[in-house]
Amino acid sequence: MIVNMALKRIADFHGHLCPDLVLGGKLCEYIQQRLPPTEPANGITAIIAENSTSALDAIQIMLGTTLGNQRLKIMDIGKHNYTIIPKSVATSFRMRLTVQDYENEETYQRLSGKMLANTIVMDEVVNLQILLDERVKYLLRQPPESLFRIESIEKEPQIPEVPSIYLTCCRCNEQVLGSHAVNYQDKIYCISCLQQMNAGCLRDHLH
Ligand SMILES: [Zn+2]
Ligand SMILES: [Zn+2]
Repeated sequence: MIVNMALKRIADFHGHLCPDLVLGGKLCEYIQQRLPPTEPANGITAIIAENSTSALDAIQIMLGTTLGNQRLKIMDIGKHNYTIIPKSVATSFRMRLTVQDYENEETYQRLSGKMLANTIVMDEVVNLQILLDERVKYLLRQPPESLFRIESIEKEPQIPEVPSIYLTCCRCNEQVLGSHAVNYQDKIYCISCLQQMNAGCLRDHLH
């Protein structure tokens, strides 16, 4: 069970308690259990998350792997799957969310759809919040091992924090991280300039 203090800390940081945040909390709890006792949770080399939901706030607060220290990487394909690369264990592991059968799924999807489309009315907002709260309670009751499936994987290469090298884009004259710059016809471009140039090419071809 996530200790109440940890839960309060992540909810305070995130701004509210929501299902994705609780999933993130449960994930961290499971990771902490799975790491050898000698390994501090904040010593994890990297976590690769396959989503960009509220769960990431729980990870950053509970494990100290953040976007800023580059120990949290996002490969957003919209799944609650995570690759954990610890420092001292020989194998990294992957955690995948098991299929969850929530109650009132149909109503939840209908109301969420209206929320996204901005057509939701006050009564429905209240109902949606009730459903969200039910999911939070349901998830809090689940042991982490019933929420996530663990698979061992071969140790992935270390992902050290790389020094930032900046290059200057020849088109907009702004500095761009070397890892994000593109060398095109022997000149350095940032991605947005390259996209604009390509859009221009496309337009020219159409005429
Ligand atoms: Zn949230
Ligand atoms: Zn540019």
